[in-house]
Amino acid sequence: ATPTAVMVATGKGASQGVLIKGGDALEKAYKVKAVIFDKTGTLTIGKPVVVSAVLFYSYPMEELCDLAAAAEANSEHPLAKAIMDYSKRIRQTFGSSADHLQEVKDFEVHTGAGVTGKVGERVVAVGNRKLMKTFNATLGRKVEDYISENERQARTCVLVAIDGKVAGAFAVTDPVKPEAGRVISFLHSMGISSVMVTGDNLSTATAIAKEIGIHKVFAETDPAGKAKIIREMQKEGITVAMVGDGINDSPALAAADVGLAIGAGTDVAIEAADIVLIKSNLEDVITAIHLSKKTISRIW
Ligand code: ADP
Ligand code: MG
Repeated sequence: ATPTAVMVATGKGASQGVLIKGGDALEKAYKVKAVIFDKTGTLTIGKPVVVSAVLFYSYPMEELCDLAAAAEANSEHPLAKAIMDYSKRIRQTFGSSADHLQEVKDFEVHTGAGVTGKVGERVVAVGNRKLMKTFNATLGRKVEDYISENERQARTCVLVAIDGKVAGAFAVTDPVKPEAGRVISFLHSMGISSVMVTGDNLSTATAIAKEIGIHKVFAETDPAGKAKIIREMQKEGITVAMVGDGINDSPALAAADVGLAIGAGTDVAIEAADIVLIKSNLEDVITAIHLSKKTISRIW
């Protein structure tokens, strides 16, 4: 494309909320044959809400909530906010004696798994199956049943272990963006395939993929794993676009032929991307591809 065509496209993009950082992405986007989507915050709204809580043995619910919230207080993960909000409501409803959370000591973030720390005299772990396994907390039948039942309904389960025993869990839902299904089917109609990559578990991820028509799912993927999936597709000669919002998506955004960051996402993702979708609307993935097509064919 001519420098003028690139300038025109960049200007048109900007006026539509599609920020194109360089001519390179613009010259490749029309060739994209697969779009890889992150799940949380990209396909979903990214504001998860706790819809149910359960105890696996007799334990005060307010205390379970307070311990979990205290452990999550320093986490920046959207799931942490969901648990803190829920705990606050429980505290207000049940008039917990403590009006603020206890402090957490030895706080640790386990990427793609959860958080751990000491709250008062209790050792608390909040996260998924993988985290519980790391801490040798066994998942009994009741826990497994609760998890599978909720995952079938596209909910993510956050487990809470207190002193090494799984005491309770939260079921969290994060609704998909209203335009997600429409965008996926439009991409398919253009001969472009769709893939989901997520750090979340396979059952939850599959339930969401089904809901919006995504072809292929890679679950329990860490940041390096997301980038590797892209490089392997590229080796097969496929031009790949990646859409993501998180720090954990930045290696993949950089590896993709065209990296598109959700405007509401983290700064790290925005920096790693070639194109920023200012409105955080998935329809602008298609806008970006169209801008590229027009630039190449010079049909302004
Ligand atoms: P995604 O790729 O979907 O954005 P992440 O890689 O951030 O997901 O997290 C993967 C999984 O790790 C989550 O679905 C959750 O089960 C667990 N997890 C990560 N951070 C936390 C946290 N702070 N609290 C509870 N669970 C967490
Ligand atoms: Mg995300």
